[in-house]
Amino acid sequence: MSRMILVPIDISDSELTQRVIAHVEAEAKIDDAQVHFLTVIPSLPYYASLGLAYSAELPAMDDLKAEAKSQLEDITRKFTIPRDRVHLHVTEGSPKDKILEMAKKLPAEMVIISSHRPDITTYLLGSNAAAVVRHAECSVLVVR
Ligand code: ADP
Repeated sequence: MSRMILVPIDISDSELTQRVIAHVEAEAKIDDAQVHFLTVIPSLPYYASLGLAYSAELPAMDDLKAEAKSQLEDITRKFTIPRDRVHLHVTEGSPKDKILEMAKKLPAEMVIISSHRPDITTYLLGSNAAAVVRHAECSVLVVR
């Protein structure tokens, strides 16, 4: 089975993505790894609890997923990796749970994640990155 790398992407944060590019490209070269990019759309009930009506004010989940996939596709074009080794995934739910789930399912040999949003200086490790480091069964490269 070929080597698989999982790269979770927060599409709202291009600066974070920028920092992982060189690391992902370097790892992707080893044994011509398959690179799986994943973005997770936080669940709709959160927005609903803010008083937004599901059907009227929020686009359908399928539309959100299609838009997220198209943005993920654009982002991954910044990575120099042969397209036949690039795989895109969009899911809905808790980012950390979905990242861990996919790491296990693939199974990924390594997860490459950036540590936290640069503007949030209090923490050296964001909540999603922390959970992945703690609970993943594979290696995790945390990019600072
Ligand atoms: P912060 O709270 O500072 O944003 P996070 O732990 O949430 O820190 O983010 C660190 C990394 O976790 C991101 O660079 C990304 O790799 C991953 N991540 C965060 N949110 C998502 C998401 N919705 N989908 C996929 N990956 C995510």
